Amino acid sequence: QWIYLNGEYVSKENAKISVYDHGFLYGDGIFEGIRIYGGNIFRCKEHLDRLYDSAKSIMLDIPLTREEMQGALVGTIRKNGLRDGYIRLVVSRGPGNLGLDPLRCPAAYVVIIVEQLSIYPEDAYRDGLRSVSVSPRRNLPDALNPKIKSLNYLNNVLVKIQSNQAGVGEAIMLNAQGYVAEGSSDNIFVVKRGVVYTPPCYIGALEGITRGAIMELCERLGYKLKEEPFTLHDVYAADEVFFTGTAAEVIAVREVDGRAIGEGRAGPVTTRLLAEFRKLVTVDGVK
Ligand code: PLP
Repeated sequence: QWIYLNGEYVSKENAKISVYDHGFLYGDGIFEGIRIYGGNIFRCKEHLDRLYDSAKSIMLDIPLTREEMQGALVGTIRKNGLRDGYIRLVVSRGPGNLGLDPLRCPAAYVVIIVEQLSIYPEDAYRDGLRSVSVSPRRNLPDALNPKIKSLNYLNNVLVKIQSNQAGVGEAIMLNAQGYVAEGSSDNIFVVKRGVVYTPPCYIGALEGITRGAIMELCERLGYKLKEEPFTLHDVYAADEVFFTGTAAEVIAVREVDGRAIGEGRAGPVTTRLLAEFRKLVTVDGVK
């Protein structure tokens, strides 16, 4: 396995960075998780847009143009001979001193890791996941603005710990006002009487690339879509609930906080959206 590290390919064992990296010391950096399907990078432009917007927001100079970054992604995939898998792209502030000041960090680190991926078994897509709502609240602006996909994932880690304790695959995070925000690493959708709902990102949700693709599919397939705030009551009372994310794709939820959702397995809208999403990923991408 070859890792892209600041313009070079190094073996996994030799892919090492400084303990003075501010990504390590302070979580000062950003990242993307991207899928490769059949040798294509799914929604490469959208991922790079989000990365470069996040960088702009935190005043992080990425030492590569978008074209160069795309080239580095393609190069790393080829070097590893991967046709299907997952790309983790990390840009951290780079090494500085122990102080917080990013001005002391002259050069960002760029790291690209590609790997095989299988997150849920196929029957989970048919049967649905169990889920719970958890106590950590989704952070809202400034620095933890959900639009910035930063390396500050402690809240998400707390959510993961609670989901592990509850024995569920993904959990539901609320925002400080109690509105449903998202999962630990997935966006959330509910379906009620044929209408598909997802929280607006200002509620405290990452503007997920998969979320965007599903919203486009809803429009194309003629499902009415509403981006509006909702509460746990709306989740419990929904006909269908599903999560979306780069790794999980579109995964149904059959139970939330002990309440069965709909028929207790993947419902018709979720099933259709997953099938259409899987068609889309084979045709939509950068070689
Ligand atoms: N929300 C959070 C907090 C995430 O980390 C992710 C995944 O990266 C998502 C949502 C889903 O976004 P995407 O579809 O771009 O993977």
